[in-house]
Amino acid sequence: MPNLSFVTPSRNSPWGTYLSQIDAVEPYLGSLARWVETLRRPKRALIVDIPIELDNGTIAHYEGYRVQHSLTRGPGKGGVRYHPDVTLEEVMALSAWMTIKNAAVNLPYGGAKGGIRLDPKTLSMKELEKVTRRYTSEIGIIIGPQQDIPAPDVNTNGQIMAWMMDTYSMNVGATATGVVTGKPIPLGGSLGRVAATGRGVFVIGREAMRRLNVAMEGARVAVQGFGNVGSIAAKLFAANGAKIVAVQDHSGTIQNEQGFDMQNLLDHVALAGGVAGFKGGDAIANENFWDIKTDVLIPAALEGQITAERAQRLHTRIVLEGANGPTTPDGDAVLADRGITVVPDVIANAGGVTVSYFEWVQDFSSFFWTEDEINVRLDKIITGAFKGIWETAEQHRISLRTAAFTVACTRVLQAREERGLYP
Ligand code: GLU
Repeated sequence: MPNLSFVTPSRNSPWGTYLSQIDAVEPYLGSLARWVETLRRPKRALIVDIPIELDNGTIAHYEGYRVQHSLTRGPGKGGVRYHPDVTLEEVMALSAWMTIKNAAVNLPYGGAKGGIRLDPKTLSMKELEKVTRRYTSEIGIIIGPQQDIPAPDVNTNGQIMAWMMDTYSMNVGATATGVVTGKPIPLGGSLGRVAATGRGVFVIGREAMRRLNVAMEGARVAVQGFGNVGSIAAKLFAANGAKIVAVQDHSGTIQNEQGFDMQNLLDHVALAGGVAGFKGGDAIANENFWDIKTDVLIPAALEGQITAERAQRLHTRIVLEGANGPTTPDGDAVLADRGITVVPDVIANAGGVTVSYFEWVQDFSSFFWTEDEINVRLDKIITGAFKGIWETAEQHRISLRTAAFTVACTRVLQAREERGLYP
């Protein structure tokens, strides 16, 4: 089968990582393997130019993307990321992981992702709004409540979703709350959505620990990335008796053998913008983060963090993937050899898109649930999905990642086969 012309992945790049995960699952797909090539190609990829007038009067251009990896099981679904390193290849991989994640949890969605190649810290609020609105208009030809539903991801939030919802609504001439999720509550957002990804990381971590006989009380936990996902997961682990012994973010790395006082740390980060300078811990060199002894290590930042070299050094029992694609194929192989359990991103961080699904359903029915209802349903859905993945892993003696891919790809390819090829 010819390779795609528009991407040249290397083994440990995001798309290369995804392709090697598909290679690993292929033997477990039975007769559905006939359709597996479908998963190695995004259905549709859009590259857009985003010109805006900056506050100083000059014209700046940004590159934006929206990739719909699969629409087989339902509309596209997945976040939008603003980051200076965003590329088409990365967005392709992130959209493919959304296909797998949505199918692993059995949400009625395909997989999609978007991104803009920019550093939001260099833009004013007004400029950020212009970029967001122009990007939304440009991808407006392929998104919609029934087509593809964006949401927050790295460096995007409820405010950006509000601008996206407004721009799309203005263009279609009607308020379309269901076009994005992760919106502010007054605009049709859902209670519990902001915390949902971090909460899901905690819930799945708790389930994995229970099965591996790792006690929550006193468990040593380290977190890389202290944004929406890492900070909320850390807070929930600490509230349930674990000790957060190290945190790394863009500003630096801090350590405390006794476990941080989480409220003080969160207050410090709210003021200082990062963990660096926190008085309740010691600063250490960034690279030493990977040597800290833990029970649970949570990479909750970007892709490609756990390389083969770092995987050799880790002293942990569980890697709980809060980020998408944090472990490279070479890193994964080392962790497997060393008997370290990897709880893969496609289930560990699926709490966000699960509550996005609740938000979308609530928007359609214009009937909103309580936060307790949301949290109970979230727990039930992802715990059930994790149980199925765990049993699949035991049955075939495969990693949790290959098991999650087995469950998910079987669902996607079954739907593919039943729909048949058009024309
Ligand atoms: N960006 C989140 C993720 O990677 C959530 C996507 C969504 O809610 O659609 O899963």
